[in-house]
Amino acid sequence: MTTNNQNNGHAAALAATSSKSYQLLIKGNRDWVEKQITADADFFTNLAKGQSPEVLWIGCSDSRVPANEVTGTRPGEVFVHRNIANVVVHSDMNLLSVLDYAVNVLKVKHVIVAGHYGCGGVAAAMSNKQFGLIDNWLRNIKDVYRLHAEELDAIDDQNERVNRLVELNAMEQVYNLCKTTIVQNAWKNGQDLSVHGWVIDLKTGLIKDLQVSSVGADHLGFVYQVNNEPVAAL
Ligand SMILES: [Zn+2]
Repeated sequence: MTTNNQNNGHAAALAATSSKSYQLLIKGNRDWVEKQITADADFFTNLAKGQSPEVLWIGCSDSRVPANEVTGTRPGEVFVHRNIANVVVHSDMNLLSVLDYAVNVLKVKHVIVAGHYGCGGVAAAMSNKQFGLIDNWLRNIKDVYRLHAEELDAIDDQNERVNRLVELNAMEQVYNLCKTTIVQNAWKNGQDLSVHGWVIDLKTGLIKDLQVSSVGADHLGFVYQVNNEPVAAL
């Protein structure tokens, strides 16, 4: 019975592979491979040898902001983590695992939080509508709104208000990165590591540097500046 159900599911999946959007992906891949090999016959031989990216990109899942394309970089140059509205949550094992691996194994030199104007996640967080499970994720952005409510409520235009929260959210996520023991221990160990906040303008394609680059935890409140001396007990 189980086997039959699985076979039925498999047959349905096979039918789905004939859909146009799916087939275009396969064709796109073949075209891309051909283009890369034409430009550099050893491209994939070299790519398969390993990676040593100097940048970790933490961006939004939005389909319009792919890390490599907007920065004109090639495969192998940017280690990427993306989630809805580029949020850094200190209990997110996925993000922490990516960050730890990037900082401590790959030894990246830059971690970039990249938001984008017109972010649907940020706009949703500014409303009081229910969207489903995602509401729990958007809570993180609602908390950023609460921190800056006075400034944001003074902006009349809805789009401008969303875009300002996009900036403030990216900045807050930079501070959240600085608060992690992963980043702070790297700094204590003298590692060459800086954390940056950017916003991509979808209307121009251009990146705006939010000027919150950090190379140390001095700007954080006392309780966030963790030291790495052992303690006997709490
Ligand atoms: Zn977004």
